[in-house]
Amino acid sequence: MKKAILLIIDGLGDLPTPKTPLQAAKIPNLHKLATDGVTGMLAPVSRFVVPGSDTSHLNILGYDPEVYYPGRGPLEALGLGITLQEGDVAFRANFATVKDGKIIDRRAGRIDTATATKLAERLSIRVDHVQAIFRNSVEHRGVLVLRGPGLSHLVSGTDSHSPSGELEPCTALAPEAEKTADIVNKYTEFISGLLSSAPENKGREKPANIVLLRGAGTYAKVPGFSERFALKAACVAGGALYRGIARYLGMDVFVVPGATGTKDTDLKAKANAAVKAIEGEYDLVFVHVKGCDNAGHDGDFTAKKAFLERIDKEMIPILSKSGASLIVTGDHSTPCSRKAHSGHEVPILVYNDIERRDDVGRFDEIACPHGGLGHIDGKDIIPLILNLIEKAEKYGS
Ligand code: ZN
Ligand code: ZN
Repeated sequence: MKKAILLIIDGLGDLPTPKTPLQAAKIPNLHKLATDGVTGMLAPVSRFVVPGSDTSHLNILGYDPEVYYPGRGPLEALGLGITLQEGDVAFRANFATVKDGKIIDRRAGRIDTATATKLAERLSIRVDHVQAIFRNSVEHRGVLVLRGPGLSHLVSGTDSHSPSGELEPCTALAPEAEKTADIVNKYTEFISGLLSSAPENKGREKPANIVLLRGAGTYAKVPGFSERFALKAACVAGGALYRGIARYLGMDVFVVPGATGTKDTDLKAKANAAVKAIEGEYDLVFVHVKGCDNAGHDGDFTAKKAFLERIDKEMIPILSKSGASLIVTGDHSTPCSRKAHSGHEVPILVYNDIERRDDVGRFDEIACPHGGLGHIDGKDIIPLILNLIEKAEKYGS
């Protein structure tokens, strides 16, 4: 089968304390694939650069973030299923609690999704000639899209994260953005009034009485994945950002019930959905799992190891029997000891039954540098896949 599944384990890489989670985990199926396939190390953006998940995924999927990165807001908005129009400016948003001009809780007392949804329904309004579209996702999170002529994303966010917690007005970072900053400030003030009097906030110790904005970006359509690589691609992901990236690149997104984008996600359902897609019309299926990154940010070695073991047990047997080539890697390291992303390379393995092999028999940070792929960059992944599935065009005659 001349098709491929690309499994990206978010935050896969780690540092030894004294072992890495990959080294400590019981992952016989991944080790078997490493044994039967070829391994190496991947610098998801480029060597020693500390990647964000957004830029890293774009790079791995063949879209140089220097050219194609639209900012986080548009990617999150697409991930929530908002159809964007050329020139829309989108922000990441979160409900927060403000008291006497100071932000006292950036999660609005850990507001639940159902309450946030009711509040969010009130927040799509017109400001002057601009349509504001607000949608919440999980708990306090959401997105704001501004639609109208002459908008610019060159504006500051409304949360400076300063120690005083002072609420910041949105300011223009360029002359052409002054109108947008003005709209954002009017919007923020107006919805603060709406939220403060909303019945859902009655009796809440920490009312969701403000929406903080950040990550502004302007949406522009980019040449799609099939146009650029002649591959029909699908995505199986729980997290909004990853679904958004896939939609931005023109992939079809499979929304799998139980795929939550957290460590409780239904991994078997995701693997089965990926196999179904690859058995259908798709040449490439990109599968994303988030749990290892969350565990890394929490500094929770045990949880990271346990999630790797779940991937090994619940996904790998399904994915490796699909008949498609399988590539397993990560978008960056999230070492538990740092509780943050790092610029360390991540292991990569490539398996299909007719590919080259190497002498590496383990899938981890210590064994894979000895593998046959050597050290590769994120931008190498699409050429690697095209070659693997015999869809690469000859260079020269
Ligand atoms: Zn990531
Ligand atoms: Zn992360």
